[in-house]
Amino acid sequence: MAERVLVTHSTEETIRCGREIGKRLTPPVLILLSGDLGAGKTTLTKGLASGLGAAQEDEVTSPTFTLVHKYERGARLYHVDLYRIASSEDFETLGLEDIFDERAVVVIEWADKLDLETESPILRIKLEHVSENERRISIDDAAGLL
Ligand code: ADP
Ligand code: MG
Repeated sequence: MAERVLVTHSTEETIRCGREIGKRLTPPVLILLSGDLGAGKTTLTKGLASGLGAAQEDEVTSPTFTLVHKYERGARLYHVDLYRIASSEDFETLGLEDIFDERAVVVIEWADKLDLETESPILRIKLEHVSENERRISIDDAAGLL
């Protein structure tokens, strides 16, 4: 499966979509999330963590102010949010490079702000606001992870 596009019609449906993806992942995997504020990146991550078995969906909250959250009940998932990071910074400055050496799923919101260099297989997911409760989710699985 190279690219798949779907539209969800509720918060719960987006979580479910994340859960289905999370179930299929074998770490290490880097998941790059793009999309505007409110597009559903954090909501999708709730499902990813739940499907992977790293956290329950209600334990997953936005790391906007903390930069990174770590969940590891069983599998390990890092949830990074670069929203408040200047685009000129690099990953070493942020002190995040070590997480790529771990066998974890790393989910990054606003990933396009940085030039990421990693050996990990990558899954790109773009979320777009369609209407109040609809989101278009485009999954680019060029590495064939799903
Ligand atoms: P982001 O992390 O991209 O800024 P969030 O996941 O934090 O976005 O917020 C998405 C908001 O939109 C939440 O309040 C969520 O309940 C709401 N929402 C409504 N419909 C959907 C949907 N279909 N998918 C995801 N979120 C939705
Ligand atoms: Mg968010």
